[in-house]
Amino acid sequence: MPLPDDDHDGYVAGCYRDGSVSDEWTEVERCAGGTFVAYVARCTCGWTGRRRPATPAAVMDCRREWFLGHVVALPVVEPA
Ligand SMILES: [Zn+2]
Repeated sequence: MPLPDDDHDGYVAGCYRDGSVSDEWTEVERCAGGTFVAYVARCTCGWTGRRRPATPAAVMDCRREWFLGHVVALPVVEPA
C-alpha cells in the first residue's frame, strides 16, 4: 500500500556490500564499523539523496541534505 504524498520521514540508510540498502528502522550509527560501504539520505516518500562514504560526518550530511534538499522544497503544509 503506497504511502500518502505528505508522509515525509527522513532517515539515513546504509548501503551494504551486496548493494542492498538498509531500511528506516536501522540505526546506521549503531551498526559495527564496516557494515556499510556508503550512507544515503532517504525519505519514506521514496526520495533518495546522494551516496556518501560511510563516515560519521556523512550521517549529518545526509540529514542536512534530506532537510535542505528535500523537505524545504516541498509545498508548505501546516505542521501536525
Ligand atoms: Zn519525502
